[in-house]
Amino acid sequence: MKKNNQHWNIENTYLELPFKFYSKQLPEKVTNPKKLYFNSKLALELGLELLSNSEILDYFSGNKVPKDSVSIAQAYAGHQFGHFTMLGDGRAILLGEQITPENIRYDIQLKGSGKTAYSRGGDGRATLSSVLREYLISEAMHHLGIPTSRSLAVINTGEKVYRNQVYDGGVLTRVSSSHIRFGTFEFIRNFCSKKDLEIFVKYVIDRHYPQISDADNPAIELFGLVMKKQIDLIVNWMRVGFIHGVMNTDNMSIFGETIDYGPCAFMNIYNPATVFSSIDKNGRYSFGNQPKIVHWNLVAFANALLPIISENENKSVELIKEKLSSFSSLFSNSWYNMMCKKLGIFEPVENDKILIDSLLELMKNYKSDYTNIFAALTLNNSYKDSLFKSSKFKKWQKNWKNRIDILNNKTKSVKLMQNNNPLIIPRNHLVELALENSINGDFNQFNNLLDLVSNPYNYSSNNNFQTVPNGFDDSYKTFCGT
Ligand code: AMP
Ligand code: MG
Repeated sequence: MKKNNQHWNIENTYLELPFKFYSKQLPEKVTNPKKLYFNSKLALELGLELLSNSEILDYFSGNKVPKDSVSIAQAYAGHQFGHFTMLGDGRAILLGEQITPENIRYDIQLKGSGKTAYSRGGDGRATLSSVLREYLISEAMHHLGIPTSRSLAVINTGEKVYRNQVYDGGVLTRVSSSHIRFGTFEFIRNFCSKKDLEIFVKYVIDRHYPQISDADNPAIELFGLVMKKQIDLIVNWMRVGFIHGVMNTDNMSIFGETIDYGPCAFMNIYNPATVFSSIDKNGRYSFGNQPKIVHWNLVAFANALLPIISENENKSVELIKEKLSSFSSLFSNSWYNMMCKKLGIFEPVENDKILIDSLLELMKNYKSDYTNIFAALTLNNSYKDSLFKSSKFKKWQKNWKNRIDILNNKTKSVKLMQNNNPLIIPRNHLVELALENSINGDFNQFNNLLDLVSNPYNYSSNNNFQTVPNGFDDSYKTFCGT
């Protein structure tokens, strides 16, 4: 039942799990915190709209923990760029699970609030710039309609953070359906007992996938649902040109939300090989490689589940292989369906694949802006791009228009395109300018960008294409943790 004006309503179900799965940890106090952002719309959803300014400062700087909170850092492991490592929340502290007035459970987590048992020599801190970046991009993703962790608050801690330079420190409060990762299962599989794994699978099913709580073989059913959620998520990323940048198994949510924003960025010019992360030298996590990595990560997840799928390991492998064998066709269908939506095709047929593939090939050859081309098609607008002048494109456009005519419902096609083709994405140059100004104390650009990305599909009043400074992306690099 809906409760009004409830304030904190924290539960700590994670603490009912085996004690190896977490470490109790209070956030480190800071001396001179300053509130920079508080997401009041999200606060309302969470039932936290009545927090006063001083409470916001106390709770989201880590200086005070909410009523009933028993704060913890979660243990997990993960494959980072293919290599297995023990990790855990090195700079994040889970305050607990807030139960909203609509009875939805969300993890409330502070990021950058000091060392934990899993900090491995790190300082447990986050730079203000990285925190602002996550706030901006995660909110943009939310408004783009992509499952994601949300950002509730940004606090300038008043403390310095030492990296290659000295930076201002920040704490981000992030809100997620949970912070359970593929890597959490890998941790339990490698460092805990089979019984622990069973307990955890039951926990995850009860929390995220209750529809299979009575399944005969819960682990294999869980695998199937997680696979579908991952496919949906990555297809959705690809719809808007999002590149996560570090799809390590420790950064992938079991519930299919985008989490752990690090060196992520949006692709401007269409090229599947696009990669911005400074540490991704071989393009493992490039835009076009993301589907392959989903599969790779699912294999790692499957390995973690093997001991409890069947008593007989060969049987487990067989069952998992069977599930995984449908991955390629599920992904491909889901991706083509999404691309069809971007082209206004609401009843896809096999031949539409040719239309899609040939458009992308042309876009790649003409180095076209991914977002603007689809926006221009949606607006039926001749966009200033060499692609639009080419005879090959004109031929393509004629075929596409014929296809839309056959569907015989122009309004429906246009609506579908408007809902799937953003006019606005957080363009890299705008993000960097906003961050640069913000850390120098000028938040105008950041505020404007936050407003802009909060309404990405507004075809009724905003029909201006975003322009990207020539060559900006050629030298653009993103970094982890700064
Ligand atoms: P990430 O690249 O942010 O996903 O982080 C990978 C791992 O390193 C996670 O276990 C983080 O908690 C940990 N980590 C990242 N930065 C820090 C830091 N400044 N202090 C402690 N641990 C960190
Ligand atoms: Mg991470």
